[in-house]
Order: sequence, then C-alpha cells, then structure tokens
Amino acid sequence: MTDKKSLSPSLARVAQGDLCAGCGACAGLFPEQIRMEAQGRGWLRPVQSAPLSEREDRTIAAICPGLGQTVEADGRPDPVLWGPHVSVQVGWAVDPEVRHAGSSGGALSMLLIHLLETGEVDAVVQTAAAPDLAIGNATVISTSAEDIVAAAGSRYAPSAPLDGLSRLAADGRRFAFVGKPCDAAALRALIAVEPKYGQIFPVILSFFCAGVPSHSGGMEVLGALGTSLDQVDRFRFRGNGWPGRATAVMKDGTERSMSYHDSWGRILSRHLQHRCKICADGTGIAADLVCADAWESDEAGYPVFDDAEGTSLFMARTEQGARILAAAQGRGRIRTEDFDLPSLTGIQPGQRERRRALLARLLALRLAGRPIPRYRGLQILPAARQNTIRKNLRNFAGMLRRSLFRRRS
Ligand SMILES: Cc1cc2nc3c(=O)[nH]c(=O)nc-3n(C[C@H](O)[C@H](O)[C@H](O)COP(=O)(O)OP(=O)(O)OC[C@H]3O[C@@H](n4cnc5c(N)ncnc54)[C@H](O)[C@@H]3O)c2cc1C
Ligand code: SF4
Ligand code: SF4
Repeated sequence: MTDKKSLSPSLARVAQGDLCAGCGACAGLFPEQIRMEAQGRGWLRPVQSAPLSEREDRTIAAICPGLGQTVEADGRPDPVLWGPHVSVQVGWAVDPEVRHAGSSGGALSMLLIHLLETGEVDAVVQTAAAPDLAIGNATVISTSAEDIVAAAGSRYAPSAPLDGLSRLAADGRRFAFVGKPCDAAALRALIAVEPKYGQIFPVILSFFCAGVPSHSGGMEVLGALGTSLDQVDRFRFRGNGWPGRATAVMKDGTERSMSYHDSWGRILSRHLQHRCKICADGTGIAADLVCADAWESDEAGYPVFDDAEGTSLFMARTEQGARILAAAQGRGRIRTEDFDLPSLTGIQPGQRERRRALLARLLALRLAGRPIPRYRGLQILPAARQNTIRKNLRNFAGMLRRSLFRRRS
C-alpha cells in the first residue's frame, strides 16, 4: 500500500467522499499501481500500491465516474428524467432460449450474439458469476452465443468490468462492452481522452441501474433462503423467466429460491453503495444502446412483477445504437413495438425518485462538507423541480443526518 503522501489526489478525493462506483477503470488503466479489491461489506474498491504520475492522475480525474460525468445532448431529444436518445421501443429476443435466460426480454444477450455473428466485433466484455464466489461477479470475455447465454441475467452484486482495460488494449481484438451506466460513462470519457479506445470498444451497451448491492446483500439473501455460501454451488439473482427468481443451487443439487419482489425489494435494495444514492445517470446515457425492464403497470401506473414472458425496453442513445437495433431486427433476431416514453415515469419508480431527489441529496452532502461528483448537462435542477417541496426536504434531511452521523462515527 502506498503512503498517504503518494496517494493519487483523484483517488484520495474519491475515497474521502466514498464516491467510488467500482467500475475498475483506474485499475484497468494502471494495473502496476492499482488493483481492485473487495472491501468493507463487499464493495470492489481500488487499492493503490505505487505512486502515479501527474499525467496518470489527470487521466483518472477525467474518466472516474465517482468524480463526475458530463453529458452533451447534441441536438437529440433530452427529456429531463431520461436523457438524450435517438429512439425508444419495447421488444424481446426472438430466440425463446435467449429470451428466457435473459433478465427481461434477453435483449442485451441477443444484440451481443448479433454483433458477434455479423462480425461487427470479435468478442464481448461482460459480467458473469464468479467461479469462486457464488454471489459475486467476474469480468469475462465471450466469443460465442453459448458464452453470452451463460452470462445472461442481472447480477445484483459489485462488478468492475473495466478492470482489464490495458490487457484488452494489447489484445488486438474489437470488443462490444456491456456494463452499468457508470462503467459506460467511464469508458466513453476514456475514449474522449484516448481515442484509440474507441477502436478497441466500438460498441457500448448498458442497462438501467438502480444501484449495486454489496456482497453482504447477497449473503443476506442466502441467509433468508436458510443457507450460506459454503453450501451453495451456483447462484442466480434473476433471469430464467421475467423477472425470474433469486435461485441458489445447493451442492447436493437441490434448489432454494425467492421472488424478485422479496430478494431485490426487501433485501438487496437496502445494501446499495453511497455513490448509487447520488447517481445522476442510472439510465446509461453514455452508451450506444440501453436496455431495461419494460414492466407492465397496474391501474395506478406502478410496475407489476408477476412472472411473464420477458419484455425489454430499448433506448438507442446514438445513431450507431439505432443502427445496430435496426440491423438485429432486420435479421429477425429482435422484435420490437412502439413505446410511449411518458409511461416510463410510472414503470421505473426507482429511477424517477432518485433523479428527482438528487439535488436535495447533493446539497446536503455539500453542507456536511463531503465531496460530491461534478455533474454537467444532467438536468439536476429541472428534475428537482418535478419533486414536491416536502420530498426534497425529506431527502435533504435524510442525507444530512446520515452524513453527520458518518462523520461522528
Ligand atoms: C445492478 C443492476 C441494477 C439494475 N437496475 C435496473 C433498474 O433500475 N431498472 C431496470 O429496468 N433494469 C435494471 N436492471 C437491468 C435489468 O435487470 C436487465 O438487465 C435489463 O433490463 C436488460 O435485460 P436483458 O434481458 O436485455 O439482459 P440480459 O440478456 O439478461 O443481459 C444482461 C447483461 O448484463 C450484464 N450484467 C449483469 N449483471 C451485471 C453487473 N452487475 N454489472 C455489469 N454487467 C452486468 C451481463 O453480462 C449481460 O450481458 C439492473 C441490472 C443490474 C445488474
Ligand atoms: S469509480 Fe472507477 S475509476 Fe473511479 S475510483 Fe472507483 S474504480 Fe476507479
Ligand atoms: S446506480 Fe449509478 S453509480 Fe450505482 S452502479 Fe448503477 S450506474 Fe453505477
């Protein structure tokens, strides 16, 4: 471990504000000096073991999503809650096996298979279950449809898919990248400062993200299933149906499972990292194409989590994203239908509430003297104006209380 004096000022600021999203970009770019390590309740965090040059520190400052994110709409429609985009549709993978294996409609997996089969990329960088930790994640390189289906399904646990950046840069292949919105933001920012990464990662895909739970969250799910890590062979957070059940396959071959409503709603969503609570972009603004759950809604407009055939939302953020989706449709890989964007506000309550609460939370952190990310072009004030004064005050007071408590303890 490096001494405090030679700690990168950028990483020091991230640590001081507990702003790390765990994307792995800093460790991926500078593997001689930084590695990712599970810390605390099981978050992936950078550990610096040797000094960085000023130039290297500047690169981290420019790309780290914990320190900020800049968005430019460049003439695209830019609704306050959902950000710049080119098109929005709903749909699903036409292949029933992929649709079933996926988290929602198997859309991301089908698009990845399409990109591989058409030769648009040579391989895919994505996240799958860790071989040595059933509730954990590992970054994998997929080169076949089988690999991609094996990695399908959301994994509500820390992932650092950018942790192999310099290794991949030396690899010579072109990769499609799939990651959380913060991962996509880091990669897009890296391409802006080092354009060669645009050739290495010509396609960036992402998904809506409500936040990453710690490994403690996964352990608590196992506990609620009456088991523990040492008895579990494999674990899926969801998928194999929509939304699919959190399922532990035991070493004796039996299975234990619980509903998405219980696993995410009652347990995992209570284990989110701090950065996720002040996330200005949980909808993948930096990606080419983003997928999400296109939940059915009840009469009050709220999402219904009854098991059904999966349906995904497709939000093309760039012309390239729209072209890839159209090509996958043209080859009969994806089927889509029109979607009425305003209805997204009802079926994505987590995204809606966090965007509206963000300004109040950031102001509370500033008042408590804690560093916050520098957000540009993310319409934070217009989003806060959509909230009631009461809700803004409640979010402000809650964040201030937690920050002051953290400082005391
Ligand atoms: C932490 C998290 C929070 C989410 N929050 C929301 C939300 O608020 N609203 C919403 O609509 N959808 C959310 N989703 C996404 C949703 O669950 C589906 O993944 C999305 O609808 C795409 O479904 P699909 O069937 O197209 O994806 P699939 O075909 O199942 O493909 C999923 C892809 O995501 C990758 N992946 C899975 N877990 C991770 C991870 N932890 N880190 C990086 N990559 C990963 C896989 O490698 C795979 O490529 C979240 C997913 C995650 C992992
Ligand atoms: S958010 Fe990513 S780049 Fe920033 S410190 Fe964490 S792992 Fe490194
Ligand atoms: S909520 Fe935001 S910061 Fe947290 S993992 Fe998702 S995209 Fe990253």
